[in-house]
Amino acid sequence: MTRRKDIVATVDIVEVFGDAGSLPFFNAVQGVLRRTTNITCLKLILSFEPALRILPTTQVFDNLTDLNVNAPHTTVALFLMNHLSITSLAVGACHTSNCPLTDCLLPLLRALTCPTGCVRAVTNAATPLTHLATTHGATGQDASFPLLQLLNFTPILTSSIITSLNINIDHQTTCLLRRISVATPALHVLRLTESPFLVGVRHSIFEQLIV
Ligand SMILES: [Zn+2]
Repeated sequence: MTRRKDIVATVDIVEVFGDAGSLPFFNAVQGVLRRTTNITCLKLILSFEPALRILPTTQVFDNLTDLNVNAPHTTVALFLMNHLSITSLAVGACHTSNCPLTDCLLPLLRALTCPTGCVRAVTNAATPLTHLATTHGATGQDASFPLLQLLNFTPILTSSIITSLNINIDHQTTCLLRRISVATPALHVLRLTESPFLVGVRHSIFEQLIV
């Protein structure tokens, strides 16, 4: 028993995804998380009903800096209240109309991956963000978020400078590069991906098929 405790105390990274993220393994996953409180990196991608409170929101991982989870943002917000040392955050679909991450203090956050519709909620003038990537969640709410609400000719607020942007785009967006340059005026790296999920892109592909 003592030997097992010693081993889990030195675990630095816990990653749960694929079959390990299915419901039959959930109790085992919770057991692992209860004993690996020294980790710095947690990836938790579960494949069952996301409404479950899949994050141990009352448990504290004192050294955690890197979090990648697909829990609803309401749950993620509760978890982040006790984890102010997060420097890298990746989240899945939001599952609410008003992103609850807007109230989170993330004073050390440097890298963020989140749905397009949640970027403005997470970022603020106190967040030293340098790397931003947007995704499309599985819900209609995330997929239908208009890109123009993010790229609305106002800067994305941070206390630092965003130098890397990875974003899903609709090539029919007017003034796309100008919108990006206003939102993130000091980029060193820009990755644009034509998203098949955006409404405008779907229409464009359909029009090409019927010509
Ligand atoms: Zn959100």
